[in-house]
Amino acid sequence: MRQDWYCDEVIPGKVVVDVLAETATVLAFRPPRPGFSREHIIVVPKVHVSSLLELTPDLAAEMLAVLQEVGGEAVARHGGCQVLTTLGNEQHNKHLHWHIAAGDGVARFVTVAPPQG
Ligand SMILES: [Zn+2]
Repeated sequence: MRQDWYCDEVIPGKVVVDVLAETATVLAFRPPRPGFSREHIIVVPKVHVSSLLELTPDLAAEMLAVLQEVGGEAVARHGGCQVLTTLGNEQHNKHLHWHIAAGDGVARFVTVAPPQG
């Protein structure tokens, strides 16, 4: 199983992705196989950062600027979107990545029944 798809394949250009925005430090792209939602965009730092918990303030500002740009474009196309990242054992690829998911009410909360007893 892949340990770090971003460092191993995406950032070196070994896999073809649809790049939406790129700076010296940040890449925003559509993955070849969308993980969820009508439109799926992934935003990653181009240097290895293991998660949001390890992100430095300077790189955080650069990532946020790209997230604003591509997130704003997703809002223009779909009317809204969800921006999220995962941490700990919910983060399957240990390279910080943000998902932008748009379309079909993707950001609606799911009602969960309260625990019984
Ligand atoms: Zn990495």
